[in-house]
Amino acid sequence: MKADEAIAHTERLLLKVGKWDWTVQVVPFTDYPDRFGAASSQRKCIDLNPVYLADEAEMRETIAHEVAHAMTVGDNEHGLPFQAALAYCRKKL
Ligand SMILES: [Zn+2]
Repeated sequence: MKADEAIAHTERLLLKVGKWDWTVQVVPFTDYPDRFGAASSQRKCIDLNPVYLADEAEMRETIAHEVAHAMTVGDNEHGLPFQAALAYCRKKL
């Protein structure tokens, strides 16, 4: 997947779930190089790790995962609200 495709997929999904005020960027993960993505509720921003763009299935799952975090701010333990949001995101992506 190209970076602009990943950004477009993420932006589309964010809009579908009403998170129009969130943004997304593809940036190098210098502090946590093993992470696929991250969602910051403080910055209202999803970061995607460019290292994993080549794996389309993994990147789609990462996008669904991070948007689910945007939908369930505060549920950092991947609890039931997060799992429900993730299932929804997987279907909508
Ligand atoms: Zn997570």
